[in-house]
Amino acid sequence: MLGSFNLTKQIDLKRLIFLLAFFSMVVSLGNSLYATFKVQKSLLINDTLESNRVYAAKLAEITELFLQSVITQLQFSAQQIGTNFSSASLRQNELYRLHRQTSSFNSVVVVDSTGKVLSSEPSTLNVKGFVVKEGQGAMPLTTQEVYISKPFISPAGNLIISVSYPITASDGGYLGFIAASIYLQGDNILNRLLGEHHYNDGSYLYVVDQNRQLIYHVDSSQVGNTIASNAVIEHVMSGYSGVMALRNSENREVLSGYAAVPVSGWGIVAQRSTDATLSQLNSTLLNVVKSTLPITVIMLMLILLLGSKIAKPLWQLAVGVKAMDRYAKSDVQAINAWYFEAEHLKQAIVSGTELVGKTIQEYDLDRQKDPLTQLLNRRGMLAKIEHCKDSGVPFSMIALDIDHFKRINDHFGHDVGDHVIRSIAELMLIGAREEDIICRTGGEEFSIFLPDVNLNQAYSIAERLRLQVHHHTFMPVEQVNISLGVAHWPSSASELSQVIKQADKALYKAKHTGRNKTEVDDIDGFSRTPKAS
Ligand code: GH3
Ligand code: MG
Ligand code: MG
Repeated sequence: MLGSFNLTKQIDLKRLIFLLAFFSMVVSLGNSLYATFKVQKSLLINDTLESNRVYAAKLAEITELFLQSVITQLQFSAQQIGTNFSSASLRQNELYRLHRQTSSFNSVVVVDSTGKVLSSEPSTLNVKGFVVKEGQGAMPLTTQEVYISKPFISPAGNLIISVSYPITASDGGYLGFIAASIYLQGDNILNRLLGEHHYNDGSYLYVVDQNRQLIYHVDSSQVGNTIASNAVIEHVMSGYSGVMALRNSENREVLSGYAAVPVSGWGIVAQRSTDATLSQLNSTLLNVVKSTLPITVIMLMLILLLGSKIAKPLWQLAVGVKAMDRYAKSDVQAINAWYFEAEHLKQAIVSGTELVGKTIQEYDLDRQKDPLTQLLNRRGMLAKIEHCKDSGVPFSMIALDIDHFKRINDHFGHDVGDHVIRSIAELMLIGAREEDIICRTGGEEFSIFLPDVNLNQAYSIAERLRLQVHHHTFMPVEQVNISLGVAHWPSSASELSQVIKQADKALYKAKHTGRNKTEVDDIDGFSRTPKAS
């Protein structure tokens, strides 16, 4: 049996192809998922940062415009009241107009240079005569300039910011200021400007003043609180606008867009947590898997099918090689080796098998031949006779030995001895029939098998050969003699080995009774005593 591999234990080509395909599919699917994840993640983060930046910038611009327009309106009213500051009706009418004309202010007041509230609107506010103190909007008295306050609790008990404008007399003397307040809690203009936007996607907005105090927050209860400083607050407080990813006070990563409001020094921050931003990634990835899965499965099935087709001829060839003792050449030739490598492998196996068979045959023949004379050797002889015996055809056997051959070697050398052996072999062949079997059974010993020849005939043949040799001139030895012994099957013995022994025995007798003669096995039916010539 050729080959020592075990087909049942080792993995086969079909499985290898499938595993390879499966592995590459998994790797490429994983790779595309990873690439999608990376690209989508960076897209989502950049998109969110950018939309937050744009949103914060837009709101900062709106807030800036609003505050500028508030200042312009206050400036106009301050000029009106400045023309006749002592007129209570002028002050009241102007405040009334200002309050009613826009819905921007929750209240408006006129304060004199000592901090006393002279007039207020709406009148329900009830702060007339009240003296404002530090922390309650008295700062404009010190600066005597346009002023946007930080959040404070008004005398009426509301959390507000106020924008004030100085009132001066026609001679330039400072008379006091007019202030408009904006509530930071409840319904107010800032809420309307900034907060008409309720976020359920995890994004939110807040506005801080220059002291990090919250002016606006989606969660209105936070308004008025001072928030912890972070990189975004630092930037926006320094008047910058931009984007940033950072960890907030709750240690959650957020994506911030921010913009400053120059007129007030406020900062507007729009942000969204990174987790919320990326939450839609999972569904994107799931969609990628869903859309690629059917084609992946189809590809795998196709590869499995093609893999089986590719592997089949190789598998059949492997089985053929493994079971060489049972597989006929035609079985291997019948394999459908439909592609180049398999076909060539098949041809190689077929011609290799033929070559091995031929070589074994030749080797077998060589093993049965004598290289010097090209006659059969003892092994070849036994095989042939066995065959003869099996066919039941009687035969005679002549055992032959060259007389005093040792002397020839000694006198003339080994090469001359070889020449004599070859010449005697030729003489035997010349006189033989086609069916006769001539063998060199030892150094200078031969056997001749004569199928369908009886003992008498064999004796005659032996004698004829002896005389031929006797009269032949072997140069440089000149004369060479041979002794012969004859036996017959089945007359001498029924066993082949016994017949051979009988022939040898007769030869031995010839040697010991003078050499150059033929002796016959002493059996019934053979009457002549051979005579040496
Ligand atoms: P006998 O008459 O009793 O047969 O005497 P013999 O000398 O022929 O027999 P013996 O058995 O004493 O010697 C046989 C010799 O044959 C011995 C051996 O060296 C020689 N011999 C055997 N094979 C070969 C061979 O292939 N070539 C040559 N040249 N000599 C061989
Ligand atoms: Mg001998
Ligand atoms: Mg001899």
